[in-house]
Amino acid sequence: MSKLLLGCIADDFTGATDLANNLVRAGMRVVQAMGIPAEPLDTDVDAVVVALKSRTAPVKEAVMQSLAALQWLQAQGAQQIYFKYCSTFDSTAQGNIGPVTEALMAALGSDFTIATPAFPDNQRTVFKGHLFVGDVLLNESGMQNHPLTPMTDANLVRVLQAQCERPVGLIEYKVVAQGEAAIRERIAQLRAQGVGVAVVDAVSNDDLMRLGPALKGMALVTAGSGVAIGLPANFNIAPSGKASALPPASGWQAVVSGSCSLATNRQVLAFIQSGRPAFAIDAMQVAAGVDVARQALDWATPLLSQGPVLIYSTAEAKAVKAVQGQLGVEEAGAMLERTLAAIARRLVELGVRQLVLAGGETSGACVQALNITQMKIGPQIDPGVPWCHAQSAAASPQGLHLTLKSGNFGTDDFFSKAFTRLA
Ligand code: ADP
Repeated sequence: MSKLLLGCIADDFTGATDLANNLVRAGMRVVQAMGIPAEPLDTDVDAVVVALKSRTAPVKEAVMQSLAALQWLQAQGAQQIYFKYCSTFDSTAQGNIGPVTEALMAALGSDFTIATPAFPDNQRTVFKGHLFVGDVLLNESGMQNHPLTPMTDANLVRVLQAQCERPVGLIEYKVVAQGEAAIRERIAQLRAQGVGVAVVDAVSNDDLMRLGPALKGMALVTAGSGVAIGLPANFNIAPSGKASALPPASGWQAVVSGSCSLATNRQVLAFIQSGRPAFAIDAMQVAAGVDVARQALDWATPLLSQGPVLIYSTAEAKAVKAVQGQLGVEEAGAMLERTLAAIARRLVELGVRQLVLAGGETSGACVQALNITQMKIGPQIDPGVPWCHAQSAAASPQGLHLTLKSGNFGTDDFFSKAFTRLA
């Protein structure tokens, strides 16, 4: 088995898939691990993305988890380490982007790295160190009201400096526009000044492709998923359909959705309007102790042989607020995640082998219920959302195809399109 080229550490679950998707599109064969694997790598791939849940963990814990992931990746021979965070730079005043970056640098004996959440394909651009989400600055994008990681400053040099002990600098777009040699010269200059981390401007994929070659040989890269498009070429890897090859799909098809994001609400509606069968989970019934999972499965069982079915708790903001008002935000969330995860597991036991999961937390719970520890990343359905293949005792021996769609990703017809794409 050849050595691992790129070892990635992602600070959340769907973010890990997003990164893996970009690497696959650039030609790498990628496996995503849920947490730090207990065993050495047993497949031949170019990159592994270790998905942690460290974004909002206490700083110490995030650092510990990330260092443990680093150790495992190093043991697999990883030649370069990629620390992946959110394209909206989700972090608190304490971290965790800064402290994790510095801990990884120390462990790798590295004195310089870059930081950029730029992901132009998803309208995240960095200009003069300021992060834009679409046409507005980060702190006007809605992210200023995020419940866990409110982002009230779009100046990433300032944001990161508040989390770092090492001086933070900037590689401006004018330098990036000139390409590899100019970027390398600027890096040398910053290093001579004692700068440890440099935010990098990027407003287009071309910028990211110019940045890529300048990162060759850098022990640690920190970024959103965008930078990944320019790295595989450093290992002489070119885009190829082979990278995303998965075993042929078989079995029945189902969608389980617990996301209440706007895009998911539209996707549920579109699926129903196309005449496909759908079962709504009523949160208050679940809370009242009714065995709604059983009802949903009894409903689905005779339909599975006829095409995809949808089971959803997805609801609009007003309905979600009403449920949360009665049960509490966390209680309601955890209760529905448990219910949907039990349904997903049972569907797979019944013979579903193509499973669409909608919602970051929801898919986390479902993947856990299916005891899935790693997924091979396949072809993209929509930006940030690929099909994957995984082994699960519930789908023995051939495993199953699944896709984890985070809230606001995907076009309105995503639920139908996903199955067409796989066929
Ligand atoms: P997204 O990716 O859109 O944020 P998540 O699955 O991460 O989706 O989060 C949605 C959360 O909302 C989950 O905890 C889920 O259990 C919860 N939830 C789902 N349906 C409802 C509902 N009808 N009422 C209240 N909470 C809900």
